[in-house]
Amino acid sequence: MTADLSRLPAVDRVLKGATAQALVERYGRTLAVEAVRTALADLRTAKAVADEDGVATLAADKLAARMAPSQRPMFNLTGTVLHTNLGRALLAEAAIAAMAEVLGRPSNLEFDVADGRRGERDDHVRTWLRQLTGAEDATVVNNNAAAVVLLLNSLALGKAVPVSRGELIEIGGAFRVPDIMARAGCRLVEVGTTNRTHLRDFEAAIGPETAMLMKVHPSNYAVVGFTHSVPEAELAALAHKHGLPFANDLGSGQLVDLERWGLPHEPTPREALQAGADLVTFSGDKLLGGPQCGIVVGRKDLIQKLNKNPLKRALRLDKGRLAALEATLRLYADPDRLAERLPTLRLLTRPAAEIDAVAHRLLPAMTRALTGQAEVAVEACRSQIGSGALPVDLLPSHCLSIKATGTRSGAAVERLAAAFRALPMPVVGRIEDGCLKLDLRCLEDEAAFIAQLAHLKMPGGA
Ligand SMILES: *Cc1c(COP(=O)(O)O)cnc(C)c1O
Repeated sequence: MTADLSRLPAVDRVLKGATAQALVERYGRTLAVEAVRTALADLRTAKAVADEDGVATLAADKLAARMAPSQRPMFNLTGTVLHTNLGRALLAEAAIAAMAEVLGRPSNLEFDVADGRRGERDDHVRTWLRQLTGAEDATVVNNNAAAVVLLLNSLALGKAVPVSRGELIEIGGAFRVPDIMARAGCRLVEVGTTNRTHLRDFEAAIGPETAMLMKVHPSNYAVVGFTHSVPEAELAALAHKHGLPFANDLGSGQLVDLERWGLPHEPTPREALQAGADLVTFSGDKLLGGPQCGIVVGRKDLIQKLNKNPLKRALRLDKGRLAALEATLRLYADPDRLAERLPTLRLLTRPAAEIDAVAHRLLPAMTRALTGQAEVAVEACRSQIGSGALPVDLLPSHCLSIKATGTRSGAAVERLAAAFRALPMPVVGRIEDGCLKLDLRCLEDEAAFIAQLAHLKMPGGA
C-alpha cells in the first residue's frame, strides 16, 4: 500500500482514542506512549497508512507481546518426568503454599522467636533431614552442583581427590566432575579405567596429599558389560583406614525406597550413609520432588567445616525455597499418602492403564483437530524418570502418536511439533520414527489440553 505519510495521525491524537486509553489504563502511560511511537515508526518504514484506532491496535499487539511473561507454563509430554529444561520437579501444593506464606512478609528466617536472638536459616530443615536420612547433621545450598563445590572446597582445597575414571561424568549444563574439581581448588587424581576400577587402584592413589575419597553416582548413563567398580563400603573402609573422609555424590536422592511403589531401586542417602559415607550430596528438585537446592548430610564435624566456609554464604538458600523444602520434607513423614501429595511421585507411579484411559479420552478431540492434516493413534511407549535417575529403567506408558498425512518426512513432523509448541500453553512431545509422540504420563489437566486444541494452526498444512 502506498501512502500519504502526512495522513498518519499524531501521537497525541492516537492517545485520545478509546483503544489507546485502554492501553494507558492497563500498562501505564510510559509504556503506552512508547508503543504508539513504535507503531507509528513501523508504519512509516513500511510506507503504510492507518487511522488512530489502527495505530492503537498495532501498539496494543506490540505491548501485549512485550509484557507477556517470558517464563510460562507448558505441557510436558516428552515422557521425561523430571525434565531439567522444563523445570524438573513440580512442587506439592503444601510447598507452594508454604513458599507463598513467607515471600511477602517478614519471617523468622534467621531469628529465634523464643529468645529473640539471631537464629540459623538451615535450622528450619536440619531436623527433618536428620530424621529422614539418619545423618548427624545437614546443610543446604543452591543446588547439588553447589553442594559438591562447597564440599570439595571445604575439605580438599589445594589437595588431591582420587576418583574412578568410570565416574568422571558430565551431567548436562556444564557440570563436569573434572572441571568442578578444578574450580573447587582441588586436584583430581584419576583412578582405574572407564569400565573397571579396583580397590587396589584407590589404595595406590592415596598419598600424603590426599584429602578425601569420593564416589560420584553415574546418574545419566550405565556402564555395562565387562565392568567393575569398588563397592561403597570397601571404599569407605579404605578411606577410614587412612584417616580420610569418604563422600558420595548421589545426584538424585530419593528419601524413601521407590520399590515400595513398584519402581526400580535408587540408592537413598540413608543407605549411602549406612554404607560408610561421611557426607552424601543430592538434589532437592530431582526424585525428592522439592525446590531447586542441594543437600549435604553426614558427619557433624564435616558439616560444620562446610558451614564455616565463606562460600556457604554465597551458595545459601533463600527463604522461599527453604519454606518449600521444609514443607516437602514434612510430607515424607506420612509415606502412605506421599504418592498422592508429591507430584513427582504421583506421576512416576501413575498406572499405565490410567494413562491409556487418558489417551483414549483425548483421541476423538485430537483426531477432529487434525482432520485432513495428520492421523492420530494411541500407542504404548516408555517414559523416563529423568534428571539422571535410573537412566536405563523405563516406565510403561501410553502416548498419542501423530503422523502427518501421507508422509513421515522430517520437515512435516517438525511442522507438527512447531504447531503444538505454538499453542497458548505450549505442548512439547518427542519426535520418533517421523511421528510426534505425546506421552500422556504427565498430562493431568485434560480439560485445559482439549480446550486449546481449537487454536491449533498448521501453517501451510502438515
Ligand atoms: C544432577 C546431579 C548433579 C547436579 O545437581 P544439580 O542439582 O543439577 O546442581 C551432581 N551430581 C550428580 C551425580 C547428579 O546426578
